[in-house]
Amino acid sequence: MAVLTGLTFGGKTWTPKFAQSIDEHKCIGCGRCFKICGHDVLLLRAMNEEGEFVDDEDDDEIEKKVMTVAHPENCIGCGACSRICPKNCYTHVELNN
Ligand code: SF4
Ligand code: SF4
Repeated sequence: MAVLTGLTFGGKTWTPKFAQSIDEHKCIGCGRCFKICGHDVLLLRAMNEEGEFVDDEDDDEIEKKVMTVAHPENCIGCGACSRICPKNCYTHVELNN
């Protein structure tokens, strides 16, 4: 089994590292990763005191907001999100093909 690689415009190989998960305990919800990702992968979600996701943004129980990998299928594996994250929240994976 080989690791999936791509080519740059100049023909050099590179290995995409796809966003797999974000550590909800480390994430401060700053939104930097969301701004830099152009592929509709990430979503900021509200969380209550029990650590459960809450869909109603007006809910009084909201404790904090954390980024989530809502659409991993859209990720191109560029790694920009983890490079800009100040809290080292990301786990990325290579793909075997
Ligand atoms: S690796 Fe790139 S495409 Fe994937 S979530 Fe991060 S910034 Fe978006
Ligand atoms: S850049 Fe890091 S700390 Fe900020 S929202 Fe994204 S995952 Fe959370």
